[in-house]
Amino acid sequence: MREQIRQYVYDLLVDIAAADTNLVLLLIISVAALIVLDAVTSFAKTKRTEAGIDVKSGAVSIDGSKTLPVRKYVSEMQGLAGVPDALICENGYIIPVERKPLARKIRDRYVAQLLVYMRLVEEFEGKRPPYGYLILGPSCRRFKIENTPDRQAWLQKMIDEMHEILAGAPAKAAPHPTKCRKCSVHDACRFRADTATLVQIGNADKSSL
Ligand code: SF4
Repeated sequence: MREQIRQYVYDLLVDIAAADTNLVLLLIISVAALIVLDAVTSFAKTKRTEAGIDVKSGAVSIDGSKTLPVRKYVSEMQGLAGVPDALICENGYIIPVERKPLARKIRDRYVAQLLVYMRLVEEFEGKRPPYGYLILGPSCRRFKIENTPDRQAWLQKMIDEMHEILAGAPAKAAPHPTKCRKCSVHDACRFRADTATLVQIGNADKSSL
């Protein structure tokens, strides 16, 4: 359709220019305007794709956008806050979208973050989103994460633990050799999981018995 309109405009302008040479300038300006319009449309499409928004979805909010308002949610009632990377409208629901450009696979923490956004959307937009989207990696692979009661119960358990720690309960470390190896506080952490430390801790435990 757009191609047909463009061809029609070209033909029309060529006819006009042939009738009056003064209109050649108008022809050039009009063609330039079409090229700019094309470039802007293509740029906007790329940005929407990066944010996980397909052509059929309506964007409500995109973090960093100059044209759409960014929605920042702060819930004192739930003790939660967050700024989704994007919010889109699908089938009458506001759906949160979270983008992880460097991620190669779905991680629990990404899912937890998205579930928090779903809670915030429910509180502030008045409707429980049935799902959210995670957009992973440079190729923007899109994953639909269902907002199920089981997932929300899993999230609630984590939130309860965080609240307990904030109230003074001791934090429980969950060391893992791969994570600990890359951890920035590895050298200072007494819970780190590398073979030598595990052996030392094991010996210390035995000697204290
Ligand atoms: S080194 Fe300590 S803080 Fe870092 S991941 Fe391991 S257990 Fe956690």
